[in-house]
Amino acid sequence: MRSPLVAGNWKLNGTLTSIRALVDTIIAGAGGDALAEMAVCPPFVYLPEVRSRLASTGIALGAQDVSDQASGAFTGEVAAAMLREFDVKYCIVGHSERRHVYGESDALIAQKFAAARRADITPILCVGELLEQREQALTEQVVQRQLDAVLELAGIAAFGRAVIAYEPVWAIGTGKTATPEQAQSVHAGIRAHLAGLDGNIASQVRILYGGSVKADNARELFSQTDIDGALIGGASLNAQEFLKICSAA
Ligand code: PEP
Repeated sequence: MRSPLVAGNWKLNGTLTSIRALVDTIIAGAGGDALAEMAVCPPFVYLPEVRSRLASTGIALGAQDVSDQASGAFTGEVAAAMLREFDVKYCIVGHSERRHVYGESDALIAQKFAAARRADITPILCVGELLEQREQALTEQVVQRQLDAVLELAGIAAFGRAVIAYEPVWAIGTGKTATPEQAQSVHAGIRAHLAGLDGNIASQVRILYGGSVKADNARELFSQTDIDGALIGGASLNAQEFLKICSAA
């Protein structure tokens, strides 16, 4: 049985004041309720502040990215071991904005995935196709290529402690959500691909959906067999909306 996870990716948003208000409202709204497992991923500089507010709430702390390097002359980078010192439990790797705005390669993303795991941080590996790739019926091929880069470096066993997020690029921040059937079909394809290597790991790995998830479309998406929660961008900046998505899961 896979327990659902809802993770909020706050991206490059917020001020110290607004971040405090957002996290405090989420904590208050989550109360002691048995919502889905929740995680929030603030910008790096706010991790210590959010960590202290989340202490003993059960809501996990996540980072939005991580360096592939452990230490040294890599200006601007943040190492996985540094994140671990701040109790970071999850780390997004390969978000489409990293792939397509910053040009990160499949190979670099695989190294980041491995770096997170070495520091005992669970990577949330994002995969997903561009609109033109979907229109050319290349979705499965693209997603498999993105997965294979990680599988080749880290091996299938690494997915024993990892989360996958299927995020069609055309659905991110656009208000265009994949239909539950479109998402389910890709999720099932990802699981089948992993099952070709290890059936147990494939059946246990959580596959989140991401792309314009809102309170009013979450329930239908979560009702699909292979959708195990969501990675939320825009809607995670609104505490009430985020909490509604968490209760739908
Ligand atoms: C994301 O950036 O991971 C995302 C899913 O964004 P949004 O929910 O805004 O589409």
